[in-house]
Amino acid sequence: MKLHDTHAHLLFPALAGQLPAVLERARAAGVGRVTVPALGPDVTELARTLHFAAATPGITVIAGIHPHSAAKATAEFLDAVVAAAEHPRLVAIGEIGLDFHYDFSPRDTQAAVFVDQLDRARAAGLPVVLHVREAHDETLALLREHPALPGSVVHCFTGDAAVAARYLDLGFYVSFSGIVTFPKAVEVREAARHVPSDRLLVETDAPYLAPRAHRGRTCEPAHVRDTLLELAALRGEDPGALAAAAWDNGHRALAARGGGLELTGIERMR
Ligand SMILES: [Zn+2]
Ligand SMILES: [Zn+2]
Repeated sequence: MKLHDTHAHLLFPALAGQLPAVLERARAAGVGRVTVPALGPDVTELARTLHFAAATPGITVIAGIHPHSAAKATAEFLDAVVAAAEHPRLVAIGEIGLDFHYDFSPRDTQAAVFVDQLDRARAAGLPVVLHVREAHDETLALLREHPALPGSVVHCFTGDAAVAARYLDLGFYVSFSGIVTFPKAVEVREAARHVPSDRLLVETDAPYLAPRAHRGRTCEPAHVRDTLLELAALRGEDPGALAAAAWDNGHRALAARGGGLELTGIERMR
């Protein structure tokens, strides 16, 4: 089984201090690729993440202003992301979107920064990776006016099957995290049954959201295997076949530009 963890914050302090061991466990669990967000507005974070990716087989990068940080967005960071579009490991602009659960930035500011990044992504020919909490209607309305390229991703999906269908209609991939292993996440689990296997991705969102079997521990990319197995059970599919489909989807969405990036050279990091 070969797995692509399509969203993991490997450079957050909870994981950054033990990266060689984290990546070794990932490889042992079959993880061949990890997509790492570089979140603004600190441009050195973008440089650091691209440098890490360039030095580490199997890593691709997305970069953008998270809705939590919308009030701190700078033109300097947004320009740096567009300039980095030429970097072979930068595969999308993200995570961007609206988060009306935490409201860490004013909602109108979140929307303005989101729209700006949608327009920049389209102009740069890059897909986007969306972060959306309790704001799917508002997000989908903005996407109608400011379309994302087909092959974009809605990460850590938290909506129901009807909401998933609306993203699928716009050409999005839908990425499921460890939330899908929580028995109480009834709507997300139902959505996971309905997303076609050529549009489904799997992620950890590490260091957050450890799947049920690892609850209480720091989430890391190796745990993506548990989420994949849960998805296969929910859907009544063979895990190997679902993993192969999700791998191909992840390759199309978040790796094709950087191709051939499997985690074969972790030893070099030691
Ligand atoms: Zn997110
Ligand atoms: Zn994230």
